[in-house]
Amino acid sequence: MRAAVYHGPKDIRIQEVDDPRIEEPTDVIVETITASMCGSDLYLYQGEVEEMVAPGRTTLGHEICARVVEVGPQVSRFKVGDRVTFPYSVSCGKCVACEQGQTAHCETSGKAIYGFGVAFGDLGGSQAEMVRVPLADGHLVHVPDSISDEAAIFLSCNLPAAVIAVDAADVRAGDTVALIGCGPTGLLAQRLLNHSPAARVLAIDPVEYRRQAAAELGATPLDNDENTVEAVMDATGGRGVDTVVEFVGRGPALSLAAAITRPGGIISGGGVYLEQDHPTSLFDLFFKNLQLRLNGFANAAMGLPRARQAIEGGLLDPTEVISHRVSLDEFPDAARAFSERTPGTHKLLITP
Ligand SMILES: [Zn+2]
Ligand SMILES: [Zn+2]
Repeated sequence: MRAAVYHGPKDIRIQEVDDPRIEEPTDVIVETITASMCGSDLYLYQGEVEEMVAPGRTTLGHEICARVVEVGPQVSRFKVGDRVTFPYSVSCGKCVACEQGQTAHCETSGKAIYGFGVAFGDLGGSQAEMVRVPLADGHLVHVPDSISDEAAIFLSCNLPAAVIAVDAADVRAGDTVALIGCGPTGLLAQRLLNHSPAARVLAIDPVEYRRQAAAELGATPLDNDENTVEAVMDATGGRGVDTVVEFVGRGPALSLAAAITRPGGIISGGGVYLEQDHPTSLFDLFFKNLQLRLNGFANAAMGLPRARQAIEGGLLDPTEVISHRVSLDEFPDAARAFSERTPGTHKLLITP
């Protein structure tokens, strides 16, 4: 099959690799209908976590809509031809972690993530023509006819992450919410916040076209620069926002959240933090009695049913954040534009 293989920072090449095959009786093989690139892929794509990848072998991608083409002998819930998606991490549905709802920490899969390098199970990614799905009965999901191929992509990661983070933000009537990070997941969160009792949302992003996109969905846009804290304080009578929903996953974003949240407020983090150290002041968190609720290592299998309901119920149409649709051959150039935040680049879909 053909796959997008990581060779080095910003160097992805389309090449022939071995077809995935059934290795365990609980495996399913799927053929990719549509895949995509997630903001969290950028850590690997940009070479920020080189120890996690195997250049020349690792394929990326953990978001998919696919069709089942082969089924292991112990798989009971799926048959050839089924249209499916998976949450980005592999979970068995039976271990203690899964029973506790911590499906990203599945003890059976060992926290395996599709297309996230050797550190997370060394599984093939969705940016390829086919993918092996281990423990299929535990986490693979049928896509109902009411959900399109393109909408199904968002069930793997972005929309469950947005649902989980907005829920954890515990928004109350009249709240002022700060949304930090207006990439695709941030924009989906903005749609969800429009249905929350929040009085207003301040959308913070250093990239003009992204915060403009949030503004078009109803947020008040704010640049992320040296004046952001002052601007938020000006907008909130000097008190700060009631709750923050964050999708950046970098130290400065967490520091900003701590600085702009009112005493007793909530920071709901949906971002992926792979840095070992960051400069957020524990004193700031302590002195304001802030509640830090990190769910960036999202239990997507748990959030997925509600994400599906949000689409089916017409709460939002996630496909509105798609800006680019490319073939596998066009993907290396499109990935570069995505990583460089070329104006107008939101969600990038790949159709192999
Ligand atoms: Zn993702
Ligand atoms: Zn498990």
